[in-house]
Amino acid sequence: VTDLILRDVEVAGVTGLDIAIAGGIIRAIGRRLDGKATQEIDGAGGALLPGLIDHHIHLLALAAELDSIVLAPERSWVACLQDADRRLPSGRWLRATGYHESFMGALDRHRLDAVIPGRPVRVQHSTGALWVLNSEALERVGANEHSPAGVERAGAGAPTGKVFREDAWLRRTLRADYPSLAQVAALLDGYGITGVTDASVTNDQAAAALLAERGPRDGLRQRVYLMTGDPEAPVSTTPLLGAGPMKIMLDDEGLGDPAVMATKIRDARAHRRRVAVHCVTTAQLAYALAAFAEAGTLAGDRIEHGSLIDDAMADGIAKLGLTVVSQPAFVAQRGDRYLAEVDPAEHGHLYRLAGLKAHDVALAGSSDAPYGPADPWAGMRAAVTRRTVSGAVLAGDERLNPREALDLYLGHFANPGSRPRRIEVGEPADLCLMSAPLRIVLGELRSELVRATIVAGRPSMSPSPPRTTA
Ligand SMILES: [Zn+2]
Repeated sequence: VTDLILRDVEVAGVTGLDIAIAGGIIRAIGRRLDGKATQEIDGAGGALLPGLIDHHIHLLALAAELDSIVLAPERSWVACLQDADRRLPSGRWLRATGYHESFMGALDRHRLDAVIPGRPVRVQHSTGALWVLNSEALERVGANEHSPAGVERAGAGAPTGKVFREDAWLRRTLRADYPSLAQVAALLDGYGITGVTDASVTNDQAAAALLAERGPRDGLRQRVYLMTGDPEAPVSTTPLLGAGPMKIMLDDEGLGDPAVMATKIRDARAHRRRVAVHCVTTAQLAYALAAFAEAGTLAGDRIEHGSLIDDAMADGIAKLGLTVVSQPAFVAQRGDRYLAEVDPAEHGHLYRLAGLKAHDVALAGSSDAPYGPADPWAGMRAAVTRRTVSGAVLAGDERLNPREALDLYLGHFANPGSRPRRIEVGEPADLCLMSAPLRIVLGELRSELVRATIVAGRPSMSPSPPRTTA
């Protein structure tokens, strides 16, 4: 039985094709396919693309962000919290991000209690390294003398409300209160994204179990490829939740001997895993390349961000066969800050794209959401224009053409910088149906042109009406 037939779509430049899907797999591609299906969609000449993959995202943080209020200097933070307090049902957590002492002063449990006494509140510092909890929140998480070291206490006494770098502990203790993934699911469906790699180093077995259980319940249909910080792969895998690489974080302080990271790479290999390393500075990249050179590489080992890469390092990355997983939209979102703060001699090394391709470096695209915009089409536009919010151009030589920009999101999970996936018989039916032909899609690179996102043969139609393609 055919589950779904897509009629009159354009595949790789060939117009007027029908696609038959059964059991989550593409079964036939041809003109005017015979037969009936449970569901038919008239593609009206729109392009059919392989489903997009966001190769570096943080699902739980994004869910929390979509469920949070954002504090900012231009509005009164007290009024923001009190407004949210009035809107929320009683007993629900109030979560806020964007705290900074420059406009809020020093914050602790007592200051928060004075603003919101009656419900649990937690406020995240804009660096992400600190949460401040009010008294009700401390009670809910059961903060006491056995709490981990990041839970600050006044001398040997009561918690101050400040909790430093204990996100994994907070997630475990707040399990039942965790934000829904429903808004994340809707967002990804609207972008044509059929899969994501969750790159959080804090992912552990509990996070994997939470995603395996809560994802389907909250309507998250996308495939998830889950990195973890430990060499052991997640055990709670499902048909839609698989094990990704082991993630290694680096801090400029205490980089030390690359042999330390080489040992971690060998641990990952013992568990048959690839490795992804967070590299945002030149020192981190040099260290990581030395470690990879010592331990050896596998196709699909990755450099996350690769924020600053000169030509010599690009050659080193290519020689080791590593993939750079970049965030093209950072150029648009943060480019003006980079231009102001980064040494002008290094502007040409920032979030490089075309220059890396010229050095034969495998390249893939991602959002790093919620820390960058989640829309992959915004990433593609930034890759093509290299334009910042103010309209300045950051390293214009690094521009890609629209086809190359789209291809950043079409690689494989396990080897994201590989050749783009293709729409072929026998392949999984993870597809993105556009409301216009490829020529128009590449000219505009806008998520508004996504008409349906199909994961394992199951379509989700975009709420926006199909656009005429004439
Ligand atoms: Zn990240």
